[in-house]
Amino acid sequence: MNTLSFDSKRCERIRQQLDSYLSNELLVETASEVVRHLESCEACSRDLESRMRVRDVLQRAVANRPMPESMRANILRTLRDSQRRSLTRVAVKRWALGFAAAAVVLFGVFAAEWLNLRHGEQLIASILKLGVSDHVICAIQGHNYPEVANPPDEIREKLGARYAPLLQVVQQRLPGFELLEGHICSIPGSDRKYVHFITRGHGTILSVILTERNGAALPRDKLLLSADSSGLGIYQDHLSGMEIAGFESGQYFAFVVSDLNQKELLQLARGLAPALNETLHTTARLLPPNATTKWAKLG
Ligand SMILES: [Zn+2]
Ligand SMILES: [Zn+2]
Repeated sequence: MNTLSFDSKRCERIRQQLDSYLSNELLVETASEVVRHLESCEACSRDLESRMRVRDVLQRAVANRPMPESMRANILRTLRDSQRRSLTRVAVKRWALGFAAAAVVLFGVFAAEWLNLRHGEQLIASILKLGVSDHVICAIQGHNYPEVANPPDEIREKLGARYAPLLQVVQQRLPGFELLEGHICSIPGSDRKYVHFITRGHGTILSVILTERNGAALPRDKLLLSADSSGLGIYQDHLSGMEIAGFESGQYFAFVVSDLNQKELLQLARGLAPALNETLHTTARLLPPNATTKWAKLG
């Protein structure tokens, strides 16, 4: 980089005004002083360019956050556009370093954003996978449900006092679905237990699954949410050929899983979530965690 004459006090004063200058907040006299200085000071011009770029990036970041895939294209477009604009004003060489620096800033901002979202997505997928595994292994491959629905009393007994009240919720909140079976199950090779309701409707099998969170939590990033149902954030994914929607309810993760289309499944999850959440909370109040052997009915 060329060494530049750098009247530090003057430059410092100008730089303090650059953000106001960019926001058109300066008085005319002050603004023209800034302009005059920028014409003769390469360092401050570069500073201004990079501030402009960061603003641009932040604005685009807000507009584009839900679509990480598009970020790269946006960055490149932003760079190309501003390069074209500036090239008409100044020599290539003079600005090349400024662009390189701006590019680093741009990629830094987007990369952090992108990594955040990617990390959130991975966390969601790893949690939702729990529900998909149980549905696929217990309901689909294991076919652990009868053709004719098990009597509710039998299901209640298998579920135990803590989870029996959920039977009614599942029966009532999944329009077009018949509850065939409810039990507490685990998948081979895992200590994890699942409260598992198996229903049939819309030409397929759908599971409603609860499992203890054990301190794990879904990300809080609203951009990763698929829907909101009475304040319950619902996350959705497509995993192992299944659509799954999941949300947190107290000490549990709750999942709705089937091979229905995404929209239909999400709608069912939204309809079920508030009632399921409320019932779980009520039961938790009546039966504190250590009051009963929670998984006593595991066969
Ligand atoms: Zn300067
Ligand atoms: Zn099961």
